[in-house]
Amino acid sequence: MIARHAEIRASVQALCRDFPGSYWRDRDRAREYPTAFVKALTDSGMLAALIPEEYGGAGLPLSAAAAILEEIHASGANGAACHAQMYTMGTILRHGSPAQKQRYLPGIASGTLRLQAFGVTEPDAGSDTSAIRTTAERRGDVYVVNGQKVWTSRAEHSDLMLLLARTAPKDATAKKTDGLSVFVLDMRGAKGLAVKPLRAMLNHATTEVFFDNVEIPAENRIGEEGKGFRYILDGMNAERILIAAECIGDARWFVDTASAYATSRIVFGRPIGQNQGVQFPIAKAYAAMRSAELMVHEAIRRYEAGEACGAEANMAKMLAADASWQAGEACLQTHGGFGFAEEYDVERKFRETRLYQVAPVSTNLVLSYIAEHVLGLPRSF
Ligand SMILES: Cc1cc2nc3c(=O)[nH]c(=O)nc-3n(C[C@H](O)[C@H](O)[C@H](O)COP(=O)(O)OP(=O)(O)OC[C@H]3O[C@@H](n4cnc5c(N)ncnc54)[C@H](O)[C@@H]3O)c2cc1C
Repeated sequence: MIARHAEIRASVQALCRDFPGSYWRDRDRAREYPTAFVKALTDSGMLAALIPEEYGGAGLPLSAAAAILEEIHASGANGAACHAQMYTMGTILRHGSPAQKQRYLPGIASGTLRLQAFGVTEPDAGSDTSAIRTTAERRGDVYVVNGQKVWTSRAEHSDLMLLLARTAPKDATAKKTDGLSVFVLDMRGAKGLAVKPLRAMLNHATTEVFFDNVEIPAENRIGEEGKGFRYILDGMNAERILIAAECIGDARWFVDTASAYATSRIVFGRPIGQNQGVQFPIAKAYAAMRSAELMVHEAIRRYEAGEACGAEANMAKMLAADASWQAGEACLQTHGGFGFAEEYDVERKFRETRLYQVAPVSTNLVLSYIAEHVLGLPRSF
């Protein structure tokens, strides 16, 4: 294992010990937000790892944030409840005005302001972001927003939402990705905003959000009007790398849990792990996790050196998600029937890690990026 940031990892492990499997099982069963865990993480300053010190954050590099999320997942917990708070603020940090940074970042760093919600996906626009139809129309000092988002996770547990909306019709722009703008929407008491929970396969606090003439002050627009897609795209490498780190953590948990069970479970008078048919899928998953980990660290190295890392970030996300899924399958199979019992946490982690084949970007879209942008194959869309 590549264990950089040993002290940070040890702190995360200590914090997670207060939130054992039973804590996550209870939240999962009730589809409840893990408020106490998120509070502990916020109070520890870890959610503000990437916020510069001048705004009250820890000013740590991406590798530290990746270590935090990896350890959360390796402990059996789920960082998805709050991971967006770590990287969504990057759009404000990189593209916000000095006044916007001053207004939002210190509050996000201290935890008094939650920026957990990121509204991009719509019912008719998932992988094709340029097809979004939620509009933000400028009327004097405000933008008036109408439309709908879906899969807007954590909206009920966030004060702010980073919102992508259309400020010019798609057919009125030179490029299909122009005409979209990014806003910081303060959801507290916003008139015309309706948030509806969306019960899903996993406990993810995800929602549908409806906008009926919701007003956003024009000063809450980030950067230039019409350039929002670029600003969002800019944050995607960090997002992909951090999700990949979560997947590495999941894979570690599955491999460790499977190994422990295979050693202790006796069938036919001997540990099941003595059978190579049981050993090999676990060993193979471990090898897949280790090789994905190398790509995650190469992506981090390039990101931190300021080099282009789109290919590596995408490959890291795909390889790590595949490794965690492979490890999840090996772990479930190793547990036989008990893999399906809630008390072992295997079925919960299995559901949780499956998400990363689809979100925040699906495997096919990663492959399409590699094919077109790395290998120069003809564009398919
Ligand atoms: C639990 C959960 C939480 C989420 N949280 C958020 C959030 O907080 N904010 C947010 O904005 N979004 C969120 N999402 C949305 C997520 O980013 C999208 O689900 C994802 O981008 C895929 O979009 P889609 O679901 O519309 O699938 P679609 O775009 O409809 O694709 C469906 C399938 O077709 C494949 N496909 C589509 N086009 C092509 C093509 N050209 N070539 C090959 N295959 C193709 C895809 O790979 C996919 O497997 C979340 C989703 C889930 C499930």
